[in-house]
Amino acid sequence: MRSSQKGQGAGARDEGAIEMSLTPCPAVRSCAVCGSTHKLRVFRQSFGAISSGCLLTGYDVVACADCGFCFADGIPEQAVFDEYYAEMSKYEHQESGGHESTYDLARFRQMTAFIEPLLPGPEARILEIGCATGRLLALLKDRGFTRVTGVDPSPSCAATAERLYGIQVTTAKISAIPFAAGTVDFIVLAGVLEHIRDLATALDELVRLLSPAGRIYVCVPDASRFAQGEDAPFQEFSVEHINFFGPVSMKNLMRSRGLSELACRQEMMQVSFRTTTPVIHAAFQASAAGAPLVADGETASGLHAYVAQSGKADDRIQQTVSAIAAGGEPILVWGAGMHTLRLMQTSRLKDAKIVAFIDSNPHYQGKAIDRIPIIAPGRVRDHAEPIMISSRVYQEEIARAAREDLKLPNRLIRLYDMG
Ligand SMILES: [Zn+2]
Repeated sequence: MRSSQKGQGAGARDEGAIEMSLTPCPAVRSCAVCGSTHKLRVFRQSFGAISSGCLLTGYDVVACADCGFCFADGIPEQAVFDEYYAEMSKYEHQESGGHESTYDLARFRQMTAFIEPLLPGPEARILEIGCATGRLLALLKDRGFTRVTGVDPSPSCAATAERLYGIQVTTAKISAIPFAAGTVDFIVLAGVLEHIRDLATALDELVRLLSPAGRIYVCVPDASRFAQGEDAPFQEFSVEHINFFGPVSMKNLMRSRGLSELACRQEMMQVSFRTTTPVIHAAFQASAAGAPLVADGETASGLHAYVAQSGKADDRIQQTVSAIAAGGEPILVWGAGMHTLRLMQTSRLKDAKIVAFIDSNPHYQGKAIDRIPIIAPGRVRDHAEPIMISSRVYQEEIARAAREDLKLPNRLIRLYDMG
């Protein structure tokens, strides 16, 4: 499961832009659904960069002028993403020995409730792509579906799935899966398609694996309804999310790969404490009859509504951050992920006297943002400065960790009223 909804302990989540050895070379994308190169810009998202390089420093959210599919444009080639997911996985749940949060578990149960009636029987050969540590497959196994296996780009995730649940996970990228054609009855794509740059290549590879009556389950954030979710402003335009599906464009994409719809449901998913995101669950199977594309107008208009709503929420945060910068007091900033990177680009946070960033994600520690070091929470006790918590989803978790786990006396500055 790869998505922005992954909980992984204070300050982590799917918020990161990570240093990499590769130099990203932004390239123009054509529409993955209809191939058109005519696009309308909806929004510009900026992240800046950690240390010397990163996955990407921002992108244009665009809508295809011909079919309405919405996606991130001006992003690196697929190979750059492949290397990033192989090396820098944030889905290992290292802090908890590979175990995920109760919210994650509830989400996996929501997905299996949709999946189970679509499975042909207990003998079904089930393959999850991007299975991370294998929890969703383990749930299906517990329900009597024993022929479950996974593919994940991260070798560390594969090892964890084997250790925790005895599920075999093959390390591979989605565009080259080392399985024979026609050997899978059911493919699970839970929070995967929003991460894939070259969608046609990936889906053609999955269709190759399907048995004649094989099916594909998809769960993605529902970009047509982002404004109905509860999260930090612009958080849905994350570093890793580069496709913004509504139900219509999801069906269009699958039709373009010879797949027809079996079921589709729009739902809210609880991500964390008072944090929700709208999602689409859908299932497809190969179909000889080609259906025409239907223009998707609702996703772009949903994104415009989300941008307007995020702008209002962002104004309130900007005021707090501007006051901190104007005060000139040295501070610590807890959170080195997307939330912070965006504020460094779009607010006066860059003018504040930041002594250090704090993050629990070991992939971030030892790196820097604007030459300011990122330190582990355990090193905060060397500092007396106030801590600005730069996260909405983890704000209360971070505050609790600071007070109860680390017994820190530092003043805490919150950006969000979480009730
Ligand atoms: Zn298009």
